[in-house]
Amino acid sequence: MLTGGRPHSFGAGSRLRSRTKVLPEQARAHNRALVLQTLYHRGALSRADLSRETGLTRVTISDLVAEFIADGIVTEIGVREVTGPGKPAILIDIDRTGHHIIGIDLSGAAEFEGAVLDLDGSVLERRSVPLPDAAEPELAYAAVRRLAGLLLDAATRPVLGIGIGTPGVVRPDGVVLSAPNLGWSDFSLESRLQGELSLPVLARNDANAAVLAEYTFGDAPADLMLIRIGRGVGAGLITGGEPLVGGRFAAGEIGHVVVGTDPGPECACGRHGCLEAWVNVPRLENAVAAAPDERDAILRQAGERLGIGIAQIVAALDLSEVVLSGDRTALSDPFVDAATRTLHERTLDGVFEDVIIRFSDQRDIVLRGAAVMVLSAQLGVS
Ligand SMILES: [Zn+2]
Repeated sequence: MLTGGRPHSFGAGSRLRSRTKVLPEQARAHNRALVLQTLYHRGALSRADLSRETGLTRVTISDLVAEFIADGIVTEIGVREVTGPGKPAILIDIDRTGHHIIGIDLSGAAEFEGAVLDLDGSVLERRSVPLPDAAEPELAYAAVRRLAGLLLDAATRPVLGIGIGTPGVVRPDGVVLSAPNLGWSDFSLESRLQGELSLPVLARNDANAAVLAEYTFGDAPADLMLIRIGRGVGAGLITGGEPLVGGRFAAGEIGHVVVGTDPGPECACGRHGCLEAWVNVPRLENAVAAAPDERDAILRQAGERLGIGIAQIVAALDLSEVVLSGDRTALSDPFVDAATRTLHERTLDGVFEDVIIRFSDQRDIVLRGAAVMVLSAQLGVS
C-alpha cells in the first residue's frame, strides 16, 4: 500500500486518466489500469474493441482479460449481434455487481454515515452511528470501527476495500494529522483499521473524497475545484486529472483564508473575515431569518466574498470549473450568480470568462468519493 509521508497521489493507480509515458517496470500496472479504466467508462466491449481503444496489442489484451476474469473483476456478458460474416464477438465488462465497496463519511454534524456501494458507485445499503459525545480519539475510532462492522455485515459480495472521507488534514498514507472535532492528531486511521479488518482501507479528507466523486461520476473536467460549504468550508482540487495534495497535505484548506481587507464577521478560529465566516450556512440562515427582506442582498454579499476568495486560485491553477456542494436552498441563485460575476470581474478578460461555478448534482458525494478512492487504489479506475 502507500508508504511514508512522501507526497504522492491517489493510491496504486496513482495517475488518474493519465496517458503520460511510464517507466518499463510500471508498464504492466499501467496497462491493467488502462484496460479497466476503458471498460469502466465505456461499458461492454469486445477484446478487439479494447485493443483498438487502448492501443495495446490483442495478445496483451487477451492476457490481461484472462487475469481479470480469474480475479473476478471482469466477466464475459454475452455476444454482440452481428449482421455480416464472421464470428460474433464476445463482450466483456467490469463485473459491476460482483464486488462491493464500503464508503464512510465522518464529516456529518450528528452521525458518521456509511454505505455499501457497487462498483458503479450506487448506494445499496446505508448504516450510521451517532457521533461520540466527546472529541476523544479512541471514542471516535471505536465509532468508525463499529460502523465499518455494520457495513461489512450488510455487504453481500466480496468487499474490494473501505474508503473513508474524514474532516481534517490527512496524509496520503491515511494518517489524520489534525481533526480537532474528532480529537485526532497524528492518528493512524487507515493502517489501524486495515490491520484490524484485513481489508484495504483508504482515508482522505472529505472534500478531497468529494472532488473524486464529481470527477468520476459528475462528468467534470480534468481541472476543477470542489468546495463543500456547510458549517465550515473546505475544498478538494483536481488538476491535470490528478488530485492535488500539497506539501503539507492541506491543499484546499481555504476556509480560514481572510477574504478582503475589511474586518468581516468573526470566525470560529478567532479571526475576522475568513471565507468560512462569510459563507457558512448557519450564519447565512441566521442572517436571513433576522432580515428576510434582505435575503438576496445577504446571499449576494456572501457570493461576492466567495468570488474574491477563489479568483486567485482559479487563475493560478487555470481551473475550468468550480463545483459547489452544500445546501442548495440556503445557497441559492443570488449566491452563485454573485460569485460567478465577481470571479469574472476579477480575472483576466478573454481567458477565464468561461469558468463555471455550479452546484454538484451528486448525492452522497463523500460516500461515492470514498468509493472512487478504493476503485482508484485497487483497480486504477477513476
Ligand atoms: Zn477562520
